Amino acid sequence: MRVDVVSIFPEYLAALDLSLVGKARTAGLLDLRVHDLRAWTDDRHRTVDDTPFGGGAGMVMRPDVWGRALDDVLDDGAHLVVPSPAGEVFTQRTAERLAGEEHLVVACGRYEGIDARVAEHYAGRVRVTELSLGDYVLNGGEVAALVVVEAVARLLPGVVGNPASLVEESHGAAGLLEYPVYTKPAEWAGHAVPDVLLSGHHARIERWRRDRALERTAERRPDLVAALDPAALDRHDVAL
Ligand code: SAM
Repeated sequence: MRVDVVSIFPEYLAALDLSLVGKARTAGLLDLRVHDLRAWTDDRHRTVDDTPFGGGAGMVMRPDVWGRALDDVLDDGAHLVVPSPAGEVFTQRTAERLAGEEHLVVACGRYEGIDARVAEHYAGRVRVTELSLGDYVLNGGEVAALVVVEAVARLLPGVVGNPASLVEESHGAAGLLEYPVYTKPAEWAGHAVPDVLLSGHHARIERWRRDRALERTAERRPDLVAALDPAALDRHDVAL
């Protein structure tokens, strides 16, 4: 997959050199290119923003600068992602959908955001999705770009060493939060690991994990339980 991120703070994306995403880049599984939006400015001050039409506080990113950048970076098969607190909320389903794309371009806004004509204009040429990380406001789209790239990249074949670890995760196909996990030592600070996990009895461990996942999800995210397909529950699940 190819991903282009355009930002006025390209250094912000340096974290994508690290860990699994960094390894995926080195291995050629992810072709990630980070661009400085100011490379497409044409004045001495490398201006990317201006005052809002209609008045009001703050500055708005200019469509002409973004237009030059996106005309260069977007090809016709690309999917343009525009982080915005007014966008659709980014979830694991969105990450799965985007992981099927060949080319993503992430346009990171700053200030009061990008002139609204930019998303409108490119929607006539490519798929455009405005994505929100959640109901709060960040200073810029770079954190959203980091989140989207990491969540999508780990779904690409070969990026996570053991693909089985993607199966039972929170927000996966089961629609549940993951069960609690433990490692050595078996006793720590007066807290013991649940006996069943030391039993070596695989069926009982599976059952215990499923029960804890259901219990946790019901306690913390009743909205996820309400969205479960009843056909995916067994008799024991329903009794919980
Ligand atoms: N004036 C905008 C509003 O109220 O909707 C907020 C602009 S925000 C200060 C600047 C940039 O941060 C946005 O253009 C977007 O790129 C990014 N951003 C802020 N909050 C975000 C969120 N919840 N999800 C995704 N991106 C966000």
